[in-house]
Amino acid sequence: MGGHPPAVSPLGYREDPELRSWLAEAGQALVDALVRGTTRDDPVVRYATPRQLHEVFADGLGLPVPSGAVPADPALALDTVKDILDRAVHSAHPRFFNQNWAGADPISVIGDWMTALLNTTAATYEMAPLFTLMENELLARMAALMGLASEPDGPQLRAGAHGLFTPGGATSNLYALHLARAWRAPEAVEEGLGGRKLVAFTSEQSHYSLSKGAAMIGLGRRSLVQVPCDEAGRMRVDALARAVQQARADGGEPFFVNATCGTTVAGAFDDVEAVAELAEREGLWLHVDACYGGSVIFSRKHRHMLRGVERAHSVAWNPHKMMGIAQQCSVLLVADPALVRHAFAARANYIFQSDKNDADQDLGDLTLQCGRRADGLKLWLTWKLRGESWFEQRIDHALALAEALEEKVRRHPAFALAHPRTFANVGFWWVPSDLRPLPEGEAMSDEVAGRLHALAPVIKNAMQREGSTMLGYQPLGDRPNFFRLLVMSPDVRESDLDATLAIVDRLGQTLVMEEHGARAKAPAQT
Ligand SMILES: *Cc1c(COP(=O)(O)O)cnc(C)c1O
Repeated sequence: MGGHPPAVSPLGYREDPELRSWLAEAGQALVDALVRGTTRDDPVVRYATPRQLHEVFADGLGLPVPSGAVPADPALALDTVKDILDRAVHSAHPRFFNQNWAGADPISVIGDWMTALLNTTAATYEMAPLFTLMENELLARMAALMGLASEPDGPQLRAGAHGLFTPGGATSNLYALHLARAWRAPEAVEEGLGGRKLVAFTSEQSHYSLSKGAAMIGLGRRSLVQVPCDEAGRMRVDALARAVQQARADGGEPFFVNATCGTTVAGAFDDVEAVAELAEREGLWLHVDACYGGSVIFSRKHRHMLRGVERAHSVAWNPHKMMGIAQQCSVLLVADPALVRHAFAARANYIFQSDKNDADQDLGDLTLQCGRRADGLKLWLTWKLRGESWFEQRIDHALALAEALEEKVRRHPAFALAHPRTFANVGFWWVPSDLRPLPEGEAMSDEVAGRLHALAPVIKNAMQREGSTMLGYQPLGDRPNFFRLLVMSPDVRESDLDATLAIVDRLGQTLVMEEHGARAKAPAQT
């Protein structure tokens, strides 16, 4: 084999005019996609199997990364950049209802691009002076909003006084468990738990990251008690009280309880006030997982749902959900920052030198991470440019539409609500005509449940292939598979909800008709 690969890329480096024009074109494509993201003319996704996607990209740069890859043709690369933008899931599309977040505010995207461009780490003030200060200001305001701290009355010069930015809600929950453990068993940070059998409590509908966290900090998953929920998905506080007693009777040491504000599937809000009451009585760390629901704090109309949150030791809150900040952006707010230092600090002397300028400003030793993306910048920029009333409008818009959708589902003969609605989640079944009306609140027969359970994935499959709308499905406790529509984006209109219900109904009817056809054509059974 002859031909050595060219030693240099067809695009030169930094100063090269060709590179500059390539960057300008690629940058324009990104800005175009940022603006075009919400158009209803495009599908939400152009579904393709893994094999098909490989074929699509074979005409461009190709997806495989072979050994000794040679530099690609810049024009082809530009086409591929556009193909990637085109073939990705368009989470900003007004008919994307699939997750507890949707799209990203374009301003936060600019903030995120700046973060990538400046490519620093928020571990030290030396490397990230501005971002350190922005994070401190944001955390102070967020802690004040949640009632964990008083309103900031001047520049925040105590680094990490109110919590930290984390790489997501799952990590925030893990950190909360770690902090609670260091609170109950301060020696555990150095010695490990020894024989102590600490027990944590959360609801059975809470986020699965708590169970992962319990495994990671050495409690073991079985030391996280999953407390039953009521009809709406709220943790039953009477059952929690019994579970705490039981754990003590079994020789365990209850130390932590999580109250969820906005459960992932049903959008339920635990009664934080009642859980706080019990936590104080029993001497438990109260963590509030408000990753999803925390943003209702902006809404004068709906913030009562978080009542009691000010009594928490720690609160997890994801601005990358209902505030529309680009992924990832999550904070863990804490009432006692001294504990954070005790739980995390390792005092590496090559980076957190105590004798350097502004050493007390370093945030890096207050977290598990070494390098840390400066996730505060995009939040700060969006907060400043939009103002808090914008976040309030987003929440009020989402909840008004969710309420309207709940009504539509109630009135439509083909649909039935799967659980009482509290938040932006509407859970519903599409019901085949021979099962209508689905009796409300009564236990379903196994046969009915079995049919509904099997229908949702098949409808979802057809929906995914069409790309006309996007929502998820899942079972919940003993409820068979139902659709979960989450209203997240300020771009969603009532007509998008109507269109989505019509799509699900059409796909359901078509599938049932096909089933009948298949049965009619099948050879008669003897
Ligand atoms: C989304 C969510 C999480 C996890 O957040 P990530 O940022 O995805 O890690 C945790 N708890 C609740 C209630 C959530 O909805």
